Order: sequence, then C-alpha cells, then structure tokens
Amino acid sequence: MAKEIILLKLGEIALKGLNRRAFEDVLIKNIRRRLRDAGEFSVSSRQSTVYIEPKDEDADMDLAEDRCAKIFGVVAYTRAGAAEKDLGKICEKAAEYLQEALEDASTFKVECKRSDKKFPYKSPEISAEVGGYLLEKYPHLTVNVHEPDIVVRVEVRESEAYVHADPKPGAGGIPVGTGGKGLILISGGLDSPVAAWMMAKRGVELTAVHFASPPYTSELAHDKVVRLLKKVSEYAGRIKMVTVNLTHLQEEIRDHCPEELHTVILRRFMLRAAQEVAKAEGCGALITGESLGQVASQTMQAIACTDAVAQMPVFRPLIGSDKSEIVKVASRIGTYDISIEPYEDCCTIFTPKHPRTKPILHFVEDGEKAIDGEALLQEALEQVETLHIMPGKI
Ligand code: ATP
Ligand code: MG
Repeated sequence: MAKEIILLKLGEIALKGLNRRAFEDVLIKNIRRRLRDAGEFSVSSRQSTVYIEPKDEDADMDLAEDRCAKIFGVVAYTRAGAAEKDLGKICEKAAEYLQEALEDASTFKVECKRSDKKFPYKSPEISAEVGGYLLEKYPHLTVNVHEPDIVVRVEVRESEAYVHADPKPGAGGIPVGTGGKGLILISGGLDSPVAAWMMAKRGVELTAVHFASPPYTSELAHDKVVRLLKKVSEYAGRIKMVTVNLTHLQEEIRDHCPEELHTVILRRFMLRAAQEVAKAEGCGALITGESLGQVASQTMQAIACTDAVAQMPVFRPLIGSDKSEIVKVASRIGTYDISIEPYEDCCTIFTPKHPRTKPILHFVEDGEKAIDGEALLQEALEQVETLHIMPGKI
C-alpha cells in the first residue's frame, strides 16, 4: 500500500455527457506522459477524481505534485495520506499526516465521504470519531463547523481510506488534445506565449511558427522563443516549432512597398505563411497574441486587412485584455522574465515612422503588388527549420 497518493478533482470535464469518457481517457494519457520521469505511478479515475498512486518508494512525489498543478482539466489537487480501512488507523493517519496544519490551526472540522457502502460506519460516525480523536491529540483545537481554519477530509474508498486537507486550485481548463490542433504565431514578446497558454487551456494541442529575419534578428532571439515555448509546454505538452525565414520578403517589402503600409503588408504575409504551415501540420486554426488597439497593426481596420487573407479561423484570445492582465498571467506561468529580455523581433525591424492605423484594403492589396509575393512566400517556406520542444529542464 502506498503511504501517500495524489488526488485530482476533475472540472468541466464532468459536464461533457457522452464525451466524458473520451475526455477522461485523454486526460489520463496526458497525466501518464507528464509523470513519466517522476517515477512509476498507477493512474486511474473514479467518480470525477483521478487517483495517482506511486508504485514504489522511488517515486518523486514533489515533482509529481508540481506536474499535476500544470495539467489542464484538473480543477483542484491534493496529496493525501493513505490508511488501512480501520477506524482507529484512519484516526491515527489523520493526526499524523496533517500534524503540521493541525498544530497551526485553532479551529477545524472533519468531513467524510464514504464511497464504500460496506464499510461498517456511516460518514457522520466516521467524522465524529476522527474529530474526537483529534481533539484529544491536539487539545488546543476546537471544532467550528462554519468557518474552520482547516477542514480534515476523510474519503473511504474501495481498497483504502485517504485523509487530506483542502485541495489546491488546479490549472483548470480542459485536457490538451480534446480541442483540436492550433498553430500559434509566436514572437519573443509578452503576449503570444500567454495566448498559446490560453488556447492550450481550452484543450488545443499546439504547434508553433516563428518568423525570423537573420541577420537583422539574432540567434539569441530564436533561443528566447525556444525557452518561452518550453515554459508553455509545461502546461501544453510537447510543441513542434517551425521557424520560417522572412529576411528576403521583408527586404523586398522595405524596398518596394508604400512605407506607411509595411507593417500591415508584412502581417498579411505572416498570416499566409502561417496558414501554409498550419495546413502542412494538420492545424485547424491560427492563434495570435493580438490585443485590440495595442499597436498600429492591431486596430480593427488593420486586423480586417490582415484577416482578409485568412482561410481558417484566427483565434485571438487576448483581444480584450489589457497589458496589465496579460503581465499577470505571464508572471504566473513563468514566461514574463524571459519575455522582457531585449531582443529584436522581425516585426520591429524596418518599422515605418508613421504606420497607417486605419489601412484600407484595396490600397493594401495594390501596395502589395509591387513585389512578387507568391515567389517570396514559396522561397520562405522552402527554408524552414523544425524543433521539438518538450517540458523539462533547459
Ligand atoms: P507579442 O508580445 O506577442 O510579441 P506584440 O504586442 O509585440 O505581441 P506584434 O509584434 O504586433 O504584437 O505581434 C502581434 C502578434 O503577431 C504576436 O502576438 C504574434 O502572435 C505574432 N507575431 C509577431 N511577431 C512574430 C514572429 N516573429 N513570429 C511569429 N509570430 C509573430
Ligand atoms: Mg511582438
């Protein structure tokens, strides 16, 4: 019998009716994959709860808990002490396993759930027994059923019983892989990694495309994007990254297209290139980190000109977010410190002094005709580099 296990409480997944089984299967597969280097675990689900039991003493429970905190589809998680199904043993386990928390608390209550109806005591009896034992063991404690400092939870299951305190909030969302495949256009900025994370939270499996323009953009800028994706992959799982070289295309735009339309023309080509990558990789949507009004290329009119070349949905999960809200998420998921490193992005080289904030589509289409876009796009797509990004140490 394992001394300690991890319990994951499933969220929205429970509401998915007939699809629920499929959702749970994907979730369990994701959990197994993420725990692979933390040891040997048995992972099973019963009644909206996933049980993660280490198979031997070598399992790294701290690492496993850390991984579980970043799995989408989990609303709450907790480590729990396992006890034999004997009332005395359950009392002892509660006192011992939650010692620190009970010493720090002044009030508590016990809540019990008994899914093994053959267990000879009913839930209120178990709660009363455990409560009495804890009061004796920790005389400074009093019972408060309304606002206790700690809730001692006892679950009596088929093979054993578990004790734990309040679960911690999980990553939420739905399991990655249940929402189709999407292609994130990733720069080294603050927004796109957060946009990637948000779509992964809604179950989307990610592939990434990054545009580079060497020698105007450096190898360090590319490395920064790799490290950002690594952070995102702690939540999203493995991410294939495709890097497309836009140098020649950008030089041609700089030399031949109307200056005030450079940015919007470049963005139309980025979208076209991304779309080709998406088709090749089997992705059904593009994802960007755009937020309305943030810069000249993110006005409603500029987005309309960009979207005019789109043949698939473009998801912009940050469209209504303020920078401060984006920064908050970036800090929480660990991308902020990397994003603020100062490297040039291909969007910020050759930027016009006065970009048109309200571009008109037919002028943009005319302006674009100054270059052989088709050939330049083909040339760019012929020199792609791919990398597979995995969660874990850098
Ligand atoms: P970010 O912080 O994500 O860089 P931003 O506010 O700087 O966003 P832009 O540089 O205008 O905005 O880019 C808008 C979006 O276009 C980005 O969120 C990203 O999805 C995409 N993008 C920008 N540069 C690149 C790039 N070099 N490669 C791939 N996608 C890019
Ligand atoms: Mg950017």
